[in-house]
Amino acid sequence: MLHRISTETLGPRGETMAEAVTRCVHCGFCLPTCPTYDLLGDEADSPRGRIFLMKEVLEGNLDPQQVAPHIDRCLGCVSCQTACPSGVPYGDLLSSYRASYPKSSARSFFAKLRRRIASLTVPYPRRFAWALRMGQWSGPLTKLAPRGLKPLVDLLPASLPDPQTPPEVSPALGEQRAEVMLHVGCAAQVLNPDITASAIRVLTRAGVTVHVPRGQACCGALHWHMGDADRAAKFAKQNVTAFGNRSIAIISTAAGCGSGMHEYPLILKGDRQEAAGADFAHRVSDFSVFLDRLELAPLSVSRPLRIAYHDACHLAHAQKIRKPPRDLLRRIGGVTVVELIDPEFCCGSAGTYNIDQPEIASQLGMRKAQAILDSGCEVVALGNIGCQVQIEQYLRKLGSNIPVLHVAQILDRVQDGRLEAMLTPGAVAARG
Ligand code: SF4
Ligand code: SF4
Repeated sequence: MLHRISTETLGPRGETMAEAVTRCVHCGFCLPTCPTYDLLGDEADSPRGRIFLMKEVLEGNLDPQQVAPHIDRCLGCVSCQTACPSGVPYGDLLSSYRASYPKSSARSFFAKLRRRIASLTVPYPRRFAWALRMGQWSGPLTKLAPRGLKPLVDLLPASLPDPQTPPEVSPALGEQRAEVMLHVGCAAQVLNPDITASAIRVLTRAGVTVHVPRGQACCGALHWHMGDADRAAKFAKQNVTAFGNRSIAIISTAAGCGSGMHEYPLILKGDRQEAAGADFAHRVSDFSVFLDRLELAPLSVSRPLRIAYHDACHLAHAQKIRKPPRDLLRRIGGVTVVELIDPEFCCGSAGTYNIDQPEIASQLGMRKAQAILDSGCEVVALGNIGCQVQIEQYLRKLGSNIPVLHVAQILDRVQDGRLEAMLTPGAVAARG
C-alpha cells in the first residue's frame, strides 16, 4: 500500500516519488508510446510496469536488484509522460529513484566499466577529447578491445573537429535588442563546436549580445540520470555560481542540457541552494524558443527544400517544445518541414544509453534512420547533439549522406548562403 512508502527514509525526494506512484491509475495509455515496451513486449519494460516495480521497491516489497535490469533499460525519454492523462511525473520519479538506488550488481563488469568511463570523461571536454583521440590513435588495436567495450569503440568518431573556444562576449550586430548567457554543453564542444558557433552568429545577427560565462560546467544531466545525484548537484551549484543572479536568459542548444538544467530544483532538493537552483531553472530557455520570439531578417533558399524535423525527447517530451523549432524552419522561404513516422519514439541516443544498452539503442537508431529516409527529405534538423551523433551514425550505415544539422546550423547556413552548397544531388537518392 502506498502509505507504507516512508518519505522520511527516502530522503528529500521521497515525496516526489510517493506522489508520482500515487498518481498512476494503471490505465495503460502510455504503453503504445514506450519504445522499450514496443521492442521487448514485456510489461516490466513498460512505463506502467516500471512504476509498479519502483513502487514495490519503495514499499520494501521487492529488492532493488530484482528490478534493476528493467529500470536500466528505461531510456528516460519520458514519451510516457506526454501520453499520460493523469500527469504522472515519470521523469522525476525515475531520476529520484535512480538517485536512491544507484548501484546495481545486476550489471555486467563491462557495463559498469562503460558507465564509469562515460561518467569520468564526457562531462569534461578536455578529458573527453583526449579519450576520443586516444581511441582514434589506437586505430587497429581497438579491434582487440574486449567485446564488452565494443559499444564504446563503435562510437568513436572518424575524425574530431578542431577545438573552438567561443568568445566570452559576442556583441549584437546593429542595435542590441536582447542579451543572453549561453550554456555551451560538454559533448557538443568536443563533437561539434560548430553548433555553438552557429548559435552565436544567428543570435548576434538577430541583435542579441551573447555572454559565455567562463566558469560554467556540464549541466549534470549525465550523472543525474545515472543516479549520481552528488556529482550532478556539484555541477548544478557550479553553474548557479557561474551564471550569477542576473535576470537574463540562459540559452541552451542541447535538449538534454536544457532539460537537465530545468531539473535543478529536484537535483538540489533539500540543499541550501535549492531556491537558487529554482531561480536558475526559470531562466533556462532552449535556443529555438528564445529565437522564435525575435524578428529575423527574411530568409529563403533558391529552390524547394524538404527538411525533416526530428523531435529530441528532452525537447518534445521533457520540455514540451515542438512548435518553435518547426516555426523557425518554416520562416525559411522554400522550405517544407516534413514530419517523421512515429515522431514520439526516441532515436536511441538518450544520454549514455547507446553505451549502456547498445542492442536496444541500435534497433532504435536504425528505425529512426529508416523513418528519415522514408520521409524523402534532403536535410534533417534537430536540437540535440546526442541525437545528431546517433542519427548521423545510422543514416551512414544505411548508405545515406543526408546532412544532419542543428536548427542553429541550418539558420546560420541559410543566412550566409552555405546550406544549398552542402546538398549533394545523391542525398535523397541514397535512401535505402
Ligand atoms: S498513462 Fe499514466 S496513469 Fe496510465 S498507466 Fe501510464 S503512467 Fe500510469
Ligand atoms: S521514459 Fe521512455 S523508455 Fe522509459 S518508460 Fe517512459 S516511454 Fe518507456
